[in-house]
Amino acid sequence: MSFFSTRGGECVTASQAILRGLAPNGGLYVPAMFPQVPDKLMTDLMEMNYRQRASQILRLYLEDFSVEEIDAALAGAYAAEKFDDAAIAPTKRLDSDTYVLELFHGPTLAFKDMALQLLPYLTTLSAKKNGEKREVSILVATSGDTGKAALEGFKDVPGTSCTVFYPTDGVSDVQKLQMTTTGGKNTHVIAINGNFDDAQTGVKQLFASAAFNASVNSRGKVLSSANSINFGRLVPQVVYYFSAYADLLKDGRIKAGEPVNFVVPTGNFGNILAAYYARSMGLPVGKLICASNRNNVLTDFFETGVYDTRRQFYKTTSPSMDILISSNLERLLFECADRDADLIARWMGQLRESHSYAVGEQRQEWLLSVFAAGCADDKECAEEISRVFNEKGYLMDTHTAVASRVLRDYRKKTGDETVTVIVSTASPYKFAADVLTAVKGRGAAEGMDAFQCSEALEVISGRPVPEQVKALKTLPIRHTARCEKDAMAQAVLTAFDGK
Ligand SMILES: *Cc1c(COP(=O)(O)O)cnc(C)c1O
Repeated sequence: MSFFSTRGGECVTASQAILRGLAPNGGLYVPAMFPQVPDKLMTDLMEMNYRQRASQILRLYLEDFSVEEIDAALAGAYAAEKFDDAAIAPTKRLDSDTYVLELFHGPTLAFKDMALQLLPYLTTLSAKKNGEKREVSILVATSGDTGKAALEGFKDVPGTSCTVFYPTDGVSDVQKLQMTTTGGKNTHVIAINGNFDDAQTGVKQLFASAAFNASVNSRGKVLSSANSINFGRLVPQVVYYFSAYADLLKDGRIKAGEPVNFVVPTGNFGNILAAYYARSMGLPVGKLICASNRNNVLTDFFETGVYDTRRQFYKTTSPSMDILISSNLERLLFECADRDADLIARWMGQLRESHSYAVGEQRQEWLLSVFAAGCADDKECAEEISRVFNEKGYLMDTHTAVASRVLRDYRKKTGDETVTVIVSTASPYKFAADVLTAVKGRGAAEGMDAFQCSEALEVISGRPVPEQVKALKTLPIRHTARCEKDAMAQAVLTAFDGK
């Protein structure tokens, strides 16, 4: 399988795509074609565990990796002691037509672990295959979840380092503690005096700066990305859609070939794009429902065919979905445009220069034949957490609740009764104050810290507080670096030089 950029150019291997992250022309790497999963494999998956299922799917894309390499990587990434559920990504039944795919059982309690536990293995293998002797230095800008998941994945992995920038006041208390208490000899965490956009823009500028790259190279290092633009982060996510389908088959809820809908809480469009890839490989999918919070640029896009970022940015109770430019949408546009790289380059140019592009009526029709979209604000999200907990005894985090609410609206509007899987992206304990407030009412979390909120949630739900959250209370703070937004390059070099 070869890969090429959504904006045209030469073909590369899977390992080259993973090592580079972004294509030199600014495009994203996409597979030359979608490998098809035979019907027999689909039913065989039923009797396999998560690692075995993953092996079957990954080897279809990672053709320059041996099956032994893939299996060893999977054994390390999804080791039993790293996940607090033996199924790794369990599918739980909410009611006869609705299931929840829980992707938050990894070390950092959010779905980013599903990919970022595996990516370090794929990165080091890719470096070896391409004769890269320099240290692969990962740079990340985070609004909260990606930073910790990347640190946890790359911590003490030989031949790599991981440097994370987070906005000083833009992350939750638990998220900040998770990052600043990270151990490991090769991890760096830097607070920047600015917001997430400043961090993200700053990191992109570092990648593009010849002078900065030269300084990094002179230290025997080469930059790489753990952002969801990297194909190595996308492919592990394709696996769990097949896995959920196999679970439903095994449960006897569906028959082989019967379509299933998925509703996905969406920010950068990486998670739901993986669902689209699974569908393109033959997974029987009815509708993919894209759920947004008040930052509903994607809802508007699907409804009008126009992507327009000229709008207010809102901070919500589902911060990992607070985003106006969804990078991975470019990969879907590429399929939508019949793989016309020139057209993609033109649309992305328009987005950069005039903050908007339009795909036209026919292409919008095609999009709506596969996707549906909806949004829910903070109030609707809180109502949903409370309703699902009271009616079904199931506690959702704020991101998952946005999806659940959008599904409720979608069913009302369309009457579509297809069995649907809600993709659950975070543990409720990661956003304990907002979840507690949703269940117990306004003021319930007043004057309480994240740990007290978690304990209160445990009493209410009977679901134990994860060990990772409890541990944060006593772990020493290891990272205190701070910098101004125009001094990020120096901050990275200072960290590299161990000053
Ligand atoms: C990252 C994240 C999302 C959004 O996922 P995308 O792949 O960026 O669309 C949703 N929920 C949580 C909890 C996340 O951490």
